[in-house]
Amino acid sequence: MPNIIVFPGSFDPITVGHVDLVKRAIPLFDKIIVAVGLNTQKKALFSLEQRMEWLRQVFAEDPRVEVDYFEHLTADYCRRIGANYLLRGLRNASDFDYEKTISQLNHIIGDGLETIFLISQPSYSHISSTIVREIIKGGGDASPFIPSSIHIAPTPGNRPSH
Ligand code: ADP
Repeated sequence: MPNIIVFPGSFDPITVGHVDLVKRAIPLFDKIIVAVGLNTQKKALFSLEQRMEWLRQVFAEDPRVEVDYFEHLTADYCRRIGANYLLRGLRNASDFDYEKTISQLNHIIGDGLETIFLISQPSYSHISSTIVREIIKGGGDASPFIPSSIHIAPTPGNRPSH
């Protein structure tokens, strides 16, 4: 049975921090599924299609990385596709506090689903999709924080979409 790990997130948009995490997890698993979670509580800046297109573009060269999306519970999605592991990144203590509870819940409702945490590299620990969105909305250049293969035009006043 292949060892499949799911990297769930909003990826609104993907950043170099996300890419670093995936690259470091690749040698540890047979397959990584980068899965965009549709969160009804969060209004995304970029459409699901756009976010998935960027993810596919960034990981196009690596057959071990697949891109998907899911609705509802992450644990149910993992069960459906036969994944036993979740990948999450830790940048700081607030990430830890938040992730600890979620991983404990997923372990229970996911019948032993394990969350594997990778500590962010120091050079990426200040990077978040939130910061990137703010830069884009403010009309700034977000290119230092996003993969070089994708281009996001600065669009002041960019409005959220589904
Ligand atoms: P979510 O909305 O689920 O937090 P994100 O797309 O913001 O989704 O993040 C997905 C995962 O990537 C989270 O585990 C987050 O901690 C991790 N992550 C985000 N940015 C970085 C970074 N710069 N370095 C390491 N991990 C990161």
